[in-house]
Amino acid sequence: MGIYARVQIGNVQVVALNRLAGFSSGNFSELNVADYVGDDLENVAKNINEVLKLVGADDIAVMSAEHGNNVIEVDQGGKCEPSDVLITRVPNLALLGLSADCVTVALIDAHSGVIGIVHSGWQGLVAQVLQTAIDSILANGAARENLVAVIGPAICAKCYEVSQDRVAKVSPINSAAILDSQHIDLCGGIKATLVDNAIRYEQFIGCTFEEEDLFSFRRADGKPTGRGGMVVCMRIDEVTS
Ligand SMILES: [Zn+2]
Repeated sequence: MGIYARVQIGNVQVVALNRLAGFSSGNFSELNVADYVGDDLENVAKNINEVLKLVGADDIAVMSAEHGNNVIEVDQGGKCEPSDVLITRVPNLALLGLSADCVTVALIDAHSGVIGIVHSGWQGLVAQVLQTAIDSILANGAARENLVAVIGPAICAKCYEVSQDRVAKVSPINSAAILDSQHIDLCGGIKATLVDNAIRYEQFIGCTFEEEDLFSFRRADGKPTGRGGMVVCMRIDEVTS
């Protein structure tokens, strides 16, 4: 079905994608949702349409992550300008964040009717993208006490061995993201930022590197691979009388 995990918060659905039950083949099998990795674009479009159906959306806005902290407020579907944060108040418009080892985080205020999706790898930790996203969603009408975050599957700290140089870049900014001198804990860094902001969270536990049903850039080891990620949508069904 393409669903790795899902949760409903009020009228908001969050689905973490696995790589099953899509149209792509080979390195991209099967549910690749990225159009920049060398996959057949027609299959990518069909896969994105499947994702739209998973959350019952009318339209879907697709992130173009750039490992920065730019935020876009979206009100229509399609491929977005480069950005690692999408925010919307539009019902039935799904937001799709792409990743393959990086972490995606959904931010939800079902009560105020505003949702967001965030993409962060180690560069996102350095750029403090999640903090920027939280500040932006609060400025867009969310209330801190209503906000709930959902953390998607990502590469775990044990599997994410990096250079000491990279650790040195992250460490002064987000010490909770450091497992040791050669390992970065992306989800640990994300959780620390949520706790600092007094935001409740749930986590879809899972390591993209270890679980073969998830796309992993690192497991692909230089070969092309697809992207999965997480989709969030605030559903409001029209009432007809
Ligand atoms: Zn792992």
